[in-house]
This record gives sequence, structure tokens and C-alpha cells, in this order.
Amino acid sequence: FNKYVSEGLPKESDMEIRESSIQLKVPEGNKDAILLKNLYLSCDPYMRNRMKKLETPSFSFETGKPLNGYGVGKVVDSTHPDYRNGDLVWGMTAWEEYSLIIAPDGLFKIQDTDVPLTYYTGLLGMPGITAYAGFYEVCKPKKGEYVYVSAASGAVGQLVGQFAKLLGCYVVGSAGSNEKVELLTNKFGFDAAFNYKEEQDLDAALKRYFPEGIDIYFENVGGKMLDAVLPNMRNYGRIAACGMISQYNNERPQGVHNLMHVVTKRLRLEGFVAFDFYHLYPKFLEMILPFIKQGKIIYVEDKAQGLESAPAALIGLFTGRNVGKQLVVLSHD
Ligand code: NDP
Repeated sequence: FNKYVSEGLPKESDMEIRESSIQLKVPEGNKDAILLKNLYLSCDPYMRNRMKKLETPSFSFETGKPLNGYGVGKVVDSTHPDYRNGDLVWGMTAWEEYSLIIAPDGLFKIQDTDVPLTYYTGLLGMPGITAYAGFYEVCKPKKGEYVYVSAASGAVGQLVGQFAKLLGCYVVGSAGSNEKVELLTNKFGFDAAFNYKEEQDLDAALKRYFPEGIDIYFENVGGKMLDAVLPNMRNYGRIAACGMISQYNNERPQGVHNLMHVVTKRLRLEGFVAFDFYHLYPKFLEMILPFIKQGKIIYVEDKAQGLESAPAALIGLFTGRNVGKQLVVLSHD
């Protein structure tokens, strides 16, 4: 990472590839450390905010250092009593081929390996817990409710829609291309979907799909979309504020004008952060692994190949280039 960008779309040149040689061992004198071979890197929208110079410096990426973020890796050397060579993990690592991690506390050991390992960047990793916690814990959904998901074909959205269908809700998603809209209805089983970029009037589009209003809005986008949703909510509706990607390239977020509907419709608008729900991970796995193995939950991934493709893959999240969960493949073993 080499440049802070407060406004606008970042460029590939804000990142660069550097080469250095390392020994494939934890260096002498490092207790409780592991050397991780990074296999898959996860591209996540929150990383855009870390490309800004934030008031809390530790939240920003450090210039001259690799970006850090979620990934899947294999332990190739360890001085830590809980980790052995060959252990597979997912969690916080860095955008480099090998990472030395001292006193790892942001890693989960991977137990179930009869699913694709890449899934631990997506539906079995942070985006999966996000969808699970946001939908079940924050939205508290009931069978038959009307659910709307924005950025619906992405890492989180495709899961929220499928959870809602499994519960017996009516689900509509929006996405930014006709290919993604096809996926929503034909692959993920949404009841309906629309391309928000082709709608002149978002309010009219929402009224078309939800003539009786929306009970649950899973908010991934913010800005104009949130403004259009608010008047279309039903009384006592819930909005899980998961993210607001339309605002991440802005230095100052754009205003939302229809907030008064929160009062008149007695809405609950609740933000949440996946990290606060990691204690539910075992319960989440118990639910989702059988669904995956029975083919009741499916997952679409977009795999970029090699570290050199990582900057474009990350930036692509903000132009909608990715179709499904965006990850970068460094190595398969
Ligand atoms: P996605 O895989 O959905 O990728 C991002 C997608 O957002 C793009 O493909 C694009 O899809 C859409 N998008 C980009 N720019 C805009 C824009 N200006 N207006 C509308 N849509 C846009 O990402 P994730 O599923 O990983 O993340 C979805 C949301 O969830 C993000 O807001 C993210 O920050 C949030 N999040 C929050 C977490 C939490 O703990 N609260 C954890 C993880 C994610 P399209 O082509 O459809 O426009």
C-alpha cells in the first residue's frame, strides 16, 4: 500500500508489488509465532475506508507495508503451542505470499475441509457471519415477511437472500447488471430482482416489487438507495445497516433526507459489525455446513489469479466488476 486516498476511486498505482526474500521459518527468538503461507486473499469493501487517513491511525493501512485483511492460509512453521505445520486457518493476515504472525489472535482453525477452501474467505468466513448475524440477530425475521436486499449478488447479499428464502420470506434483490439480476432469480432463488442502474426512479421500482411495503431491508449500499427505501418500509420494519458502499469513495457521506419515516413508521434502524458476533461462529457452522452439503445454499465466487491481480480486484468492488464473492488466489496448497 503506498498512498492514502480520501476521495474518489482508488487506482491500482496506489498499491504496488514489492519483492523480498525470506527464510521459510519463524525467525529465531520469536515465541508464539507462526509463518503462514497465504493461499487466498479476501477483497472486502471495508478495506476502502482503511485506504483513508483515519483519525484512529491503527485503522488505516500503513504506507510502505502490505495491506492486511482476511484470508485463508496454511501454517508452514510454528513456535506457537496451538499451531502445527499443515494447519489450515482463516482470519486476519496480510497481502503477501508468506506472513509472519506473532501471537495470532485473529485466526480461526479450519476443521471442515470437504467444502472448497476458498469458501472460508466468503460464506464460511467473515461475510458469512455478517449475513447470518445481520439477518437472524439484527432483523429478527419471521416467515412470510417482505425482504429487500441491496448489493444482493455480492459476498453478503447472496447469502442473506438465500437465508430469507429458506425461512419462507418473499425476497427481492437489486444489483448493478443484468447478469447479476439473472443470478439472483435463477441461481439464488430470489422471488424477483432488478437492475438499479436501469431504474430512473428507485421509489417507483420499490413500489412495483413491494406494493404492500418492505418489512426488512438489508442495507449494503446507503445514499440514494436508503432514501428510496425509507418511505417504502412498513410500520415496525427493521433495517439492518450492514454497509453503505455507495459512500466509501466520498470524503463526506451524502445526506439522506427521508429519515423522518423512521419515526412515523416506528422503524428499527440498527447498525452492526460482524466482529461482535464471532462467538456465534460454531453455531453458524452447525447451521450452514449441512445446507451447503445438501445443496440448499449455493455460493458464487469471483476468483482473481495472483497477487498482481489483487489491486484491480479490490478496486473492482467499487465499480461492480465482481460477480459474487471477490477473492484472490495465490496458491492452492
Ligand atoms: P460485494 O461482494 O457485494 O461487492 C460490492 C458490490 O457493491 C459491488 O459488486 C457492486 O455491486 C456494489 N456497489 C459498488 N458501488 C456501489 C454504489 N455506488 N452503489 C450501489 N452499489 C454499489 O461486497 P460484500 O458483500 O462483501 O459487502 C456488501 C456490503 O456489506 C458493503 O457495504 C460492506 O461494507 C458491508 N459489510 C459489512 C460488514 C459488517 O460487519 N457490518 C462485514 C462485511 C461487509 P452492483 O454491481 O450490484 O452495484
